[in-house]
Amino acid sequence: MKILVINAGSSSLKYQLIDMETEVAIAKGGCERIGLDGSFCKHKANGKEATIQSAMPTHKEAIQVVLNALVDKEHGAISSMEEIDAVGHRIVHSGEEFNDSVLLTDDTMATIESLSELAPLHQPANIIGVKACQAIMPNVPMVGVFDTAFHSSMPEKAYIYGIPYDAYKDYKIRRYGFHGTSHRFVSAEAAKYLGREGDNDFKVITLHLGNGSSISAVKGGKSIDTSMSFTPLGGVPMGTRSGDLDPAIVEFIANKYNMTLAETINYLNKKSGVSGLSGVSSDFRDLRNAAAEGNHRAQLALDVFTYSCRKYLGGYAAALGGVDCVVFTAGIGEHDGGVRMSIIEDLEYMGIVVDKTKNDNLADGICEISAEGSRVKVLVIPTNEELVIARDTQRLAK
Ligand code: ADP
Repeated sequence: MKILVINAGSSSLKYQLIDMETEVAIAKGGCERIGLDGSFCKHKANGKEATIQSAMPTHKEAIQVVLNALVDKEHGAISSMEEIDAVGHRIVHSGEEFNDSVLLTDDTMATIESLSELAPLHQPANIIGVKACQAIMPNVPMVGVFDTAFHSSMPEKAYIYGIPYDAYKDYKIRRYGFHGTSHRFVSAEAAKYLGREGDNDFKVITLHLGNGSSISAVKGGKSIDTSMSFTPLGGVPMGTRSGDLDPAIVEFIANKYNMTLAETINYLNKKSGVSGLSGVSSDFRDLRNAAAEGNHRAQLALDVFTYSCRKYLGGYAAALGGVDCVVFTAGIGEHDGGVRMSIIEDLEYMGIVVDKTKNDNLADGICEISAEGSRVKVLVIPTNEELVIARDTQRLAK
């Protein structure tokens, strides 16, 4: 079985074709500048990379470019479109309507569309991607896999805010959480690795630290709390997002800088985080280089980030009533040993003992960086959100 995984953004579309026998991506790539001049697709298969320049006024043309690339004699991966058995789509928001991935039918699509208000930038783009795909492949089953669904298991006390309950009743204002496919994948991989699959008492804290970052508390394979919130703006400071703030700051900033509410939210989403703090970059490699050269604000950005992560780690250990395993994943979590160390050093009293040599010398795949005898295991696990989407698609498309 071969499954096409699609992640559609407003002007981009990323894809992977996954062979489910081996669970390996046999082709992958992305279209950029959809709806703009100069649109192109970067496509990789068989160890070769091609850049395809093609007009893509809408996502429909982009999907057609992807399908053409996949069956191309020279840089394709399959001989005909018929080999694609199902398509899995990343969808941001499941609201309170779905607690699992779902087969995309007229009914479920209508529900997904009704949730656009909760993710006005991303959900409509995801929907456009699904519709474009359905138009070109009308007989291929399609499945939607949500960023939020894994967190639907959070208890009420974790998702309700301290504002009048009517705000929840009337407008569903609550914590939803994001990066669910990643937290689900790495927490399940950790359970498998440590022989704790199916153990309802297995307590993991997963740190997905990338351009967007979120931290989750997972007990027995279920999310019980997570740092991102009503939108992905909440939680720890990120590349360009502020993370948690005193809500009164929003009005204060708007007044001082003479910005509208929308401009202020944009400022918190795009101009803040470690980028705004450091004035250097949102990329941790740049921050580290600048900090090594004595740039105080770059070091401060790193410190604010790791300190915030550390507070979530402690908070979630308390929320879980203990912790068996800490998992680092995503761009920073997988590659920045310095960040990992700052978050988990000097936590011996919590049963976390790190092996510095292991932390500095990772191999491929799952790596254990806790010291021999550390009560809490600390793992670095490469995330694979596309594989989760493909597996769910296989399960539901059957
Ligand atoms: P996204 O949220 O875009 O999926 P990723 O999980 O790919 O993000 O993470 C991207 C971020 O990971 C980069 O912005 C950078 O900060 C960080 N990163 C990637 N590689 C390294 C590295 N070798 N060392 C430190 N940080 C890295």
